[in-house]
Amino acid sequence: MSARLVLATHNAGKVVELRQILGDAGVEAELLGMDSFPEVADVVETGVTFAENALLKAHAVAQATQLPAIADDSGLAVDVLGGSPGVFSARWSGRHGDDLANLQLLLAQIGDVPDEHRQAHFACAAALALPDGTEKVWFGQMPGHLIREPRGSNGFGYDPILVPDGETRTSAELSPDEKNAISHRGKAFRALAADLAGFLK
Ligand code: IMP
Repeated sequence: MSARLVLATHNAGKVVELRQILGDAGVEAELLGMDSFPEVADVVETGVTFAENALLKAHAVAQATQLPAIADDSGLAVDVLGGSPGVFSARWSGRHGDDLANLQLLLAQIGDVPDEHRQAHFACAAALALPDGTEKVWFGQMPGHLIREPRGSNGFGYDPILVPDGETRTSAELSPDEKNAISHRGKAFRALAADLAGFLK
């Protein structure tokens, strides 16, 4: 029987995406989402780094389920803002998950910043925690620059204002497969997948 592990998310799309990445890496494991564990409460993200938040979630789920658990945390880091919004990306405007308000506030804050100083990157930390307390974190980044008007309708969050390096389109104008191939989350999950077998023995 193959190993069972949990991804700390209720987002079915994320589960499907990671299953695909694990399959491509030759990992024989059954990946479950948190919908399979309705009794387990969500973890409050109190950390001040992506890695801390990912580890908080992974350890809580590993303890609650007694299975190896994977969790990710991600956000946008803008160079001229010293890496903000960072872990506050989802609640930058004060309303958690209001993507449009978050994006509009950010654009207003950097309205005066000239094109040559608008570098930013999406960052992702992907953490693995085992029920015995073993832990490891893998990282991925998608560097680019911020434009002044949103473009594109794919993706979510700040995708419509980030043009990845080497692209003319925004992240929201890429297809899901194109984005996964270069995204912070894709990179972090692929790095995790490459090492995972060693933790599941
Ligand atoms: P979480 O890791 O799902 O909690 O994402 C945190 C926040 O970071 C999201 O609400 C978005 O605002 C931002 N973010 C993370 N990844 C992306 C991305 O791939 N595109 C656009 N925004 C993102």
